[in-house]
Amino acid sequence: MCDYTQREYSCGHFRWIASKWCREYTLTHKRCQPNVTHFEYRADEPCGECKPKEYPPWENLIRRNKQATY
Ligand SMILES: [Zn+2]
Ligand SMILES: [Zn+2]
Repeated sequence: MCDYTQREYSCGHFRWIASKWCREYTLTHKRCQPNVTHFEYRADEPCGECKPKEYPPWENLIRRNKQATY
């Protein structure tokens, strides 16, 4: 079984983030029964789908850096 962190967002949605893959998964890449080892609650963060669609503030920085390298 792989270890997962269950994260609950302020919007009420859940996400499961793998924290450790078991040996079987690393060998076969077959999803196995998740083993939730940690619980997190993000009281002031909505999940990715409920977040307002905006570019994060660092988006401009990345673009500027890319342009600078060309
Ligand atoms: Zn596993
Ligand atoms: Zn949500």
